[in-house]
Amino acid sequence: MKLDFFPEDIRPHIIPETREGLYYKCLGCSAEYPIEKLLYVCPECNQVLLIQDRNAASLQKIPGAVWQKIFDFRKMLKIPALKGIYRYHEFIGPCIPLESIVYLGEGHTPIVEANQTLQKKVGLSFFYKNDGQNPSASFKDRGMASAVSSIKYLIDQKLVSDVIAICASTGDTSAAASLYASYLDPLIKSAVLLPHKKVTSQQLSQPLGSGAHVFEIPGVFDDCMKIVEHLSTQYSVVLLNSKNAWRILGQESYSYEIAQDFEWDMKDKVVVVPIGNAGNISAVMNGFIKFYEANIIDCLPKIIGVQSEHADPVFQYYLEPDETKRKFVPVDTKPSVAQAAMIGNPVSMPRVVHIAKKYNSLAGRQQVFFVQVTEQSIMDWQLLANKNGHITCTQGGECLAGLVKALDKKIVNKKDTAILDATAHAIKFSEFQDLYFNSKIPKDYHIDSDPDKINLPSLILPDNPNMVPSQKKRLGEKDFQNFVKDISEKIAERLSLKVSL
Ligand SMILES: *Cc1c(COP(=O)(O)O)cnc(C)c1O
Ligand SMILES: [Zn+2]
Repeated sequence: MKLDFFPEDIRPHIIPETREGLYYKCLGCSAEYPIEKLLYVCPECNQVLLIQDRNAASLQKIPGAVWQKIFDFRKMLKIPALKGIYRYHEFIGPCIPLESIVYLGEGHTPIVEANQTLQKKVGLSFFYKNDGQNPSASFKDRGMASAVSSIKYLIDQKLVSDVIAICASTGDTSAAASLYASYLDPLIKSAVLLPHKKVTSQQLSQPLGSGAHVFEIPGVFDDCMKIVEHLSTQYSVVLLNSKNAWRILGQESYSYEIAQDFEWDMKDKVVVVPIGNAGNISAVMNGFIKFYEANIIDCLPKIIGVQSEHADPVFQYYLEPDETKRKFVPVDTKPSVAQAAMIGNPVSMPRVVHIAKKYNSLAGRQQVFFVQVTEQSIMDWQLLANKNGHITCTQGGECLAGLVKALDKKIVNKKDTAILDATAHAIKFSEFQDLYFNSKIPKDYHIDSDPDKINLPSLILPDNPNMVPSQKKRLGEKDFQNFVKDISEKIAERLSLKVSL
């Protein structure tokens, strides 16, 4: 829609203006650093950073209802830079000029209500938000669009050049990083470190296809992360891991979209996310806080973070009810089908602690909860969800298992409506489905295949196995007709088809 047609009261705000105000703040010593620096941890105390906005109060000058109208009308713009996460430019990265924004189709993923069968089984009304429908098929594209746009901004300002961007990954970060970097080739080159044999073949194919340098490292994600950290302190590289605070900022868009899709009404809503490196849950909480502080939503939804019992350091930390006695202890992970969340020492743990505390305090009661689920329940619920029309990955299955657990523990109640994060597309993790259906999941996952859930293809052969069509030798017309008839009859028998009149 053309600018002239927008209502007069919001017209001046429809195209966002670039402004200053963002800075890095250390979560350890509270030191502040300019946003134009490439910075991942505090040079003073080595803690992680968050991006803050000195002008956050100025956002409150516009009434919440007007913000709602601005965002609703912005949907009608045809400007690519404002079609993705930067629809919320004022909250996502006001210093980034529209010319520097990299848009590859990320964000605004569908929110799909579960069918009645599944809702009845779970005992609660719920939706999946399909973040697997992002360009590289996971939510990581949100943070990557933000991080890479911030680098493009620094390149455009001639503050950096010849960027080599690197990351360690459980699979999806590297897929997103290499995709966005390849779009800016040759301005940015990317290199990714993956734990050898700990990512699916689909995930491995993504950075290879995008032309990134791909390194496989023995060990698990936490080991790769240490190497990336070493590289980033010794050499001139740009970090695209979620240590990079821009990643968190971009992922806040997930919450903004939920608020907008539910007409800004967060009453009795429950947002469920899986936790790995804990960047996502930090971002999701922070997004709702920002919209709450700007009066765009008038209450904070309940947040439930879910971890597998094979990788549950955040859950363990919060088991201690007394805040002053809590102590973070990294765990050694065990094999998990929620492989993208199989992390024992989450980089964003300090962010979770800081933001969850603020969240509960703003809500005036505990509104952030953590639950732990079994590997068996992750797999069973994922398969059941997909059998009922969803396209969720194993981490999305973990969310559903977590919701069921939360209901059981009375953390949520029947009148709540839950929104579950399908963090990646099912096809990225289809290897686990294959293993389950073939009853071949290795023992150390502690998962048994339920015969009722198994689905395998049936090979249908004709009575005469030599009379089959092949590309090398076509059958004669008569033989082919016999083949078609024979196979059709066998399929009709399997499906108990009735003869049509
Ligand atoms: C990265 C990832 C997670 C975990 O998110 P964190 O921000 O690391 O907690 C969960 N699911 C999928 C599919 C992922 O790629
Ligand atoms: Zn510090």
